[in-house]
Amino acid sequence: MGKRLKKLGLRAQDTSELFFDNVRVPAENLLGGPAMENRGFICLMEQLPWERLQIAITAVAAAQSAIDQTVAYVKERKVFGQAVGAFQNTRYTLAELQTEVQVARVFVDKCCELVCDDKLDTATASMAKYWCSDLQCKVMDECVQLFGGYGYMWEYPITRAYADARVQRIYGGTNEIMKEVISRGMGLGGR
Ligand SMILES: Cc1cc2nc3c(=O)[nH]c(=O)nc-3n(C[C@H](O)[C@H](O)[C@H](O)COP(=O)(O)OP(=O)(O)OC[C@H]3O[C@@H](n4cnc5c(N)ncnc54)[C@H](O)[C@@H]3O)c2cc1C
Repeated sequence: MGKRLKKLGLRAQDTSELFFDNVRVPAENLLGGPAMENRGFICLMEQLPWERLQIAITAVAAAQSAIDQTVAYVKERKVFGQAVGAFQNTRYTLAELQTEVQVARVFVDKCCELVCDDKLDTATASMAKYWCSDLQCKVMDECVQLFGGYGYMWEYPITRAYADARVQRIYGGTNEIMKEVISRGMGLGGR
């Protein structure tokens, strides 16, 4: 096992490289039986839509949590004699974010139905992964802004949520790769 990597976020989760060198796996330990021999990569590929949907689900849940935390905070925090939540900018920002998260949630719910019926295709799962994780990062950024200076302090959960969000656009295939997959599904091939 490689050394534990120091990450920007997701610090409760240890991440390191695993090296398999001279490893012999007994035949009886083959997952899925003899028919699956040499099909490991195919098995992995078949599960990619579900992996991407899990990232989208996490994105929507984290974004909703951030909005909820921010609504509570702006009601309580007073500046210039009034709650931050009373400013039109705050109310409109949160209204827009809540609308977008609601839209994302409907799409993700639809994808959950599809995955349960084994009908979630790669392009649709890629749309969910890229769009919801982009939205998550946008929500975190706006929410941190509404927390002001406290939003930059590790003791506030919104700060950790901001740091944790960033990798969602990178792992599970970057969002640029998701757009590659989607465009190929539209018959638009690159090199
Ligand atoms: C915290 C964490 C956990 C991870 N967990 C796992 C795991 O459990 N299992 C696992 O297998 N991997 C895991 N990864 C790896 C992760 O999936 C990769 O980091 C990710 O897919 C991006 O690959 P890369 O790092 O090689 O970036 P690169 O491929 O080097 O990408 C660099 C940049 O180039 C862009 N780019 C690359 N190719 C193209 C292209 N064709 N067109 C346009 N732009 C392109 C990318 O979008 C990106 O912006 C993890 C990564 C992190 C950070």
